[in-house]
Amino acid sequence: MKAIYPGSFDPVTYGHLDIIERCANKFDTVIIAVLNNIQKQSLFSVEERIALLKETTKDFPNVEIDTFSGLLTEYAKSKNCSTIIRGLRAVSDFEYEMQMALVNKKTYNDMETLFMVSNAEHVYLSSSIVKEVSYYGGEIACFVPKVVEDALTNKFKGGL
Ligand code: ADP
Repeated sequence: MKAIYPGSFDPVTYGHLDIIERCANKFDTVIIAVLNNIQKQSLFSVEERIALLKETTKDFPNVEIDTFSGLLTEYAKSKNCSTIIRGLRAVSDFEYEMQMALVNKKTYNDMETLFMVSNAEHVYLSSSIVKEVSYYGGEIACFVPKVVEDALTNKFKGGL
């Protein structure tokens, strides 16, 4: 069975990687779909986000990295896949995620959204908080792999 794990991944964190590893153990193929949304300002370009994901998931042979724009349901159909994975951290994620899952189901009836509850160790972790800590020169080695840490340090070198 195939599943799509969509998101911004700006940049990938140990929270995402925890979900990716667990999906890779449950599904034959996992497609990580990086959202290319021109309306949403991102720190890393889609190409940079893909490169970081490729590097940090290289030990999982059944994980593919791709990008999409527009409707997730249309992308899922084009991939012949009707299973979407989303991660849930806190109750605050729930309302938006439920709305998206219901809208996606309405527009593509075969589509199922499966929620994975974050590992307790990563429940507080988001790409935004990692960017903020890194911007102010804080220690981020416990939140992201070295390659992501270096990419963030590079971005913020000399200020934005
Ligand atoms: P989006 O902008 O689509 O929310 P993100 O890259 O922030 O993109 O997140 C992609 C998915 O990964 C979402 O389902 C989000 O809830 C999940 N996620 C992000 N961080 C964590 C974490 N620390 N633990 C579990 N799931 C997470």
